[in-house]
Amino acid sequence: MVLRDFTTDHSACALNTATLGHNLEGYGAGWSVERVIDACAARGLAGIVFWRREIGNRAEEIGERVRAAGMEVVGLCRTPFLVGSDVPDRFEDDARAAVDMAAALGTTVLTIVTGGTEPGTTGVMDSQKILAARTAKLAEYASQFGVSLALEPLNPMFGGNRTVLMTAADALRVADMTGQPNVGVAIDVYHVWWDTTLADTLAHRGQGRVLGYHVCDWLEHTSDMLLDRGMMGDGVADLPAIRAAVEATGYRGACEVEIFSSNNWWQRDPDDVLDQMVARFRKVC
Ligand code: ZN
Repeated sequence: MVLRDFTTDHSACALNTATLGHNLEGYGAGWSVERVIDACAARGLAGIVFWRREIGNRAEEIGERVRAAGMEVVGLCRTPFLVGSDVPDRFEDDARAAVDMAAALGTTVLTIVTGGTEPGTTGVMDSQKILAARTAKLAEYASQFGVSLALEPLNPMFGGNRTVLMTAADALRVADMTGQPNVGVAIDVYHVWWDTTLADTLAHRGQGRVLGYHVCDWLEHTSDMLLDRGMMGDGVADLPAIRAAVEATGYRGACEVEIFSSNNWWQRDPDDVLDQMVARFRKVC
């Protein structure tokens, strides 16, 4: 399978609005959703991935506006944690509300960050069983709206309180455990760049199962686990190799740029960030 050529065509590039700092209070330039949409459309992007807090009760309106601008809503971040000690009260209602919002936006992908190890258990295996059961139930609900659920494995440093899926293999296994056809995985460079088994795993078990690909870079001297992601080309991740592994599964969807960077990219003018993002996408992704 031939890797898509991005050097002359960035029409697969999408913005995850985290890159502009919009998903955390006190960060970002305060652009309206409309301004973000216009700026992405002006640069010929494939679409946008939003966070729920930006959407409020305007999901249908925002979805229509994205499509009117010639783009897609590529995905929605994210469900509440489904396992671990930080699972909110009434998490099932909240998870269904996330599905409803995805449907109203007109996107087919809702991302799941799982939450950590379930209280009263140790390790991740028991938690993964609980996660699979809860994801299966949510997937049944989501299927009536044409929404798929993307289990995102996180870098192992997020184990404990944020995830019970540390590898693509874990995520694919739990997706299998759900028995639901609308459950797959999201592959994020930040979380998998170190995993030398990624290509094998995806080749053997990932066919048709990748629902999203998130790009950034891993900075050699990272200063913060959560908020110091690098722009593509500034770090040590082998971006072409990771994309080759993802595309070998048949994935031809958007590649969303997702950069949490409180001290660098979030301090910059969003227009500059978007221009750099497109340039790096063409150059190094
Ligand atoms: Zn991600």
